[in-house]
Amino acid sequence: METYDIIIIGGGPAGLTAGIYAARAKMKTLLIESTFSASLITTTDMVENYPGFPGGIDGFGLVERFKEQALSFGLETLQDDITEIQAAASDVSSGWFAIGSQEYHARSLIIASGAAYAKLGVPGEKEFTGRGVSYCATCDAPFYRDRTIVVVGGGDTAVQEALFLTKFASRVTLVHRRDSLRATAILQERAFANEKLDFVWSSVVEEIRGEKTVSAVRLKNLVSGRSEDLAADGVFIFAGYIPNTELANGIIERDEDGYIIVDDRMHASQPGIFACGDCIRKLLRQVVTACGDGATAAFAAQLYVEELRGTLYPHRK
Ligand SMILES: Cc1cc2nc3c(=O)[nH]c(=O)nc-3n(C[C@H](O)[C@H](O)[C@H](O)COP(=O)(O)OP(=O)(O)OC[C@H]3O[C@@H](n4cnc5c(N)ncnc54)[C@H](O)[C@@H]3O)c2cc1C
Repeated sequence: METYDIIIIGGGPAGLTAGIYAARAKMKTLLIESTFSASLITTTDMVENYPGFPGGIDGFGLVERFKEQALSFGLETLQDDITEIQAAASDVSSGWFAIGSQEYHARSLIIASGAAYAKLGVPGEKEFTGRGVSYCATCDAPFYRDRTIVVVGGGDTAVQEALFLTKFASRVTLVHRRDSLRATAILQERAFANEKLDFVWSSVVEEIRGEKTVSAVRLKNLVSGRSEDLAADGVFIFAGYIPNTELANGIIERDEDGYIIVDDRMHASQPGIFACGDCIRKLLRQVVTACGDGATAAFAAQLYVEELRGTLYPHRK
C-alpha cells in the first residue's frame, strides 16, 4: 500500500486550497472527494464576495479553477466516500488510515469534509435549490432586492437572517412550526419591531411551488390542519446545519453540534489529524475562510510530517 505524506478528505475550497499548498510544498498528497456530494459552493449560481472576481463568479466555475491550480502542482485526486478513520498502529507516528471502498494510508490527514444544510424534505425543495430556495442569507440576500421572501425556522439563525434579509426584500415572512420563537430575547425584540417582518405561527412548509423559479410556498397550519399558498419569490431555510464529521466519530474531539475542534494550526485532538473549512467549529462559514483554513492546515501538516521525518528546520517549529 502506498503511503502518502498527506491525505485530504474533501474537494471543496478548504480541501483544494490545502491541496495547492501541500502539493506545491512537494508533499506527496492525495485528495479524496465524495462520489455523491459535491462542494456546497457548486450549488450557487453567483459568488460575489470571494476576492479577485469583480462581477462575481459561479460556484462551480470557482471550484474548477481551484482544482486546475491544485492539479498543476501535482496533487493526486480520486473519488471515494470515506466512512472511517483509524490509527495505523498504537503509535500514531505510524500515521492514519482513511477508509472508504479501500484503505488509504498517510502520515497525516486533513479533514475538509464540509457541512450540509438540514433539509425540510418537502416537494420542490431540491428542484428549486439555487432558483429561489436558499440556505445562506449572507450569500444570496442581494438577489432578492425588493422581492418577497419566506424564512423557515424560529431559532437564532432564522431570526438573525430574517432581519438581515429585510434590508433587501420588500417583505419577509417568517414561518415557524411553534407559536413562539426560540431565538434569544434581544433578537425577538428586534424582529417584532421590524415593520418589514411578518410571522406565520404554528405552520410548516408542505411544498415549494413555481415554474422556472419559486413563486409560492404551500403552508399547513398545525392547529387548524388547513393548507394554503403564500406567494413568495424566495424561500430561505434555516432548519440547522449538519457537519460531515461522522467519519471522525470517536477519534477526534467534536463539539456538541458535531463540529471538529481545532487549534490555531487547524490541529485536531489527535497528532497528525488536521481539519479545515465548514466542518470545524468557527464563526464564519464562507469560501474565503475555508481557503484560509485550508492553507493553514496544509502548512501545519507539512511541518508535522517534516518533524516526523527529522527534516524540519528548528526555526519552523
Ligand atoms: C446555496 C449556497 C450559497 C453559498 N454562497 C456563498 C457565497 O456566495 N460566498 C461564500 O463565500 N460562501 C457561500 N456559501 C458557503 C460555502 O459554500 C462554504 O462556506 C464552502 O463551500 C465551505 O468549503 P469547504 O471546503 O469547507 O466545504 P464544501 O465546499 O462543502 O466541500 C466539502 C467537500 O467534502 C467532500 N466530502 C464530504 N464528506 C466526505 C466523505 N465522507 N468522503 C469524501 N469526501 C467527502 C464533499 O464531496 C466536498 O467535496 C454558500 C453555501 C450555499 C449552500
